[in-house]
Amino acid sequence: MRYQRSSALFSEAKKYIPGGVNSPVRAFKAVGGDPIFIKEAKGAYLYDEDDNQYIDFIASWGPLILGHAHEPVLNAVIEKAKKGTSFGIPTAIETELAKLAVSMVPNIDKIRFVNSGTEACMSAVRLARGYTGKDKIIKFAGCYHGHSDSFLIQAGSGAVTFGSPNSPGVTKGTAKDTLLANYNDLQGVKTLVKANKGEIAAIIIEPVAGNMGCIIPTDTFIKGLRELCTQEGILLLFDEVMTGFRLGKGGAQEALGIDADIVMFGKVIGGGLPVGAFAARDEIMSYLAPDGPVYQAGTLSGNPLAMNAGLAMLTELNNKPETFTSLANKTKFLHEGIAEVLNEKGVTHQINRFGSMISVHFCDEPVIDFASSAKGNNESFKKYFHGMLDKGIYLPPSAFESYFLNDAISYADLAKTIEAVRSIF
Ligand SMILES: *Cc1c(COP(=O)(O)O)cnc(C)c1O
Repeated sequence: MRYQRSSALFSEAKKYIPGGVNSPVRAFKAVGGDPIFIKEAKGAYLYDEDDNQYIDFIASWGPLILGHAHEPVLNAVIEKAKKGTSFGIPTAIETELAKLAVSMVPNIDKIRFVNSGTEACMSAVRLARGYTGKDKIIKFAGCYHGHSDSFLIQAGSGAVTFGSPNSPGVTKGTAKDTLLANYNDLQGVKTLVKANKGEIAAIIIEPVAGNMGCIIPTDTFIKGLRELCTQEGILLLFDEVMTGFRLGKGGAQEALGIDADIVMFGKVIGGGLPVGAFAARDEIMSYLAPDGPVYQAGTLSGNPLAMNAGLAMLTELNNKPETFTSLANKTKFLHEGIAEVLNEKGVTHQINRFGSMISVHFCDEPVIDFASSAKGNNESFKKYFHGMLDKGIYLPPSAFESYFLNDAISYADLAKTIEAVRSIF
């Protein structure tokens, strides 16, 4: 494939935008080479500025679960735009989306919309602190909750890829209130809670992790966290920015059978427009301004275009829950196909999968936390990534990212993807 125009565009972008990108993981630093620039996309396919076509396995990092430029979502944006793009005054559409989201997700009464997953997570933590009157939080190494200060402590994917897990600019004062535990290590969490008794407001977790590859929580671990939080008066925060409306209507809460205290959303809930949200039972949400004392606001929050895109997306998923089964079946097919090829070729690997999230790791031990994920062979990953790109398959350009399947991907696309793996090794 030729990437001439993309390379020229990247050189130009670097003159005016730091690193040429508006979000670091796009820059291909972990895999080398220049990023491709996208001109347009439709269904399962991306088209770059050199007119190359790719099967897309990132779906804008999750939101486009039904594929690119999906008609109902597209029309929702276009029709709404004709009636004005922002008012800063309430609109009926906000309640419509809120009502639908609350009906789909277990264990929540109210939801507040923001503009990104980052905003959702930082606001949820403020709410948890306000509600409990405590300062500290526990997060897990390798979990990403957006780029807000409190979370940039061993933050998974982007932050890990660039080797700056503790970003300069985050003050010691902020960092000291974030305690770090290892994923799937319940005993470690118990020890932290004991050592900080009565001081912990919240435990925040990706209930199925997707920012250190796809990592599945053990039953004992996730149930244990729930019990511990209930016993100790700690709020359990599920960061469902990736898993929400992807693992099923009710996200990871439903898939794992665990009730969280506050749930954060992003990605799918905005249908490809900038939306985040956080939700909880009434008792907790009533602490939020203007009902309660915890302040949180946003000029473009509940933006009509974004709400209408989200509404179109969630309506489709709500009416066609078989979409989730279809996605899970496709992901299983991909898993089995890649595993067969890698086994045949004698390539050491692990594949993790949950619903429509999947990751391939080039290492020989099970990947259950950040440390085991970091053992993956990055040279093999680079070869794999670029080989696949050259065959017209767009994978996440970092070994620490889960793939996100979209339902526009066909079995023929998956077969082509598996054949591409065969030709590389
Ligand atoms: C993407 C992501 C975020 C951040 O969302 P943005 O919209 O990028 O700010 C937070 N948490 C998780 C689990 C994510 O995957």
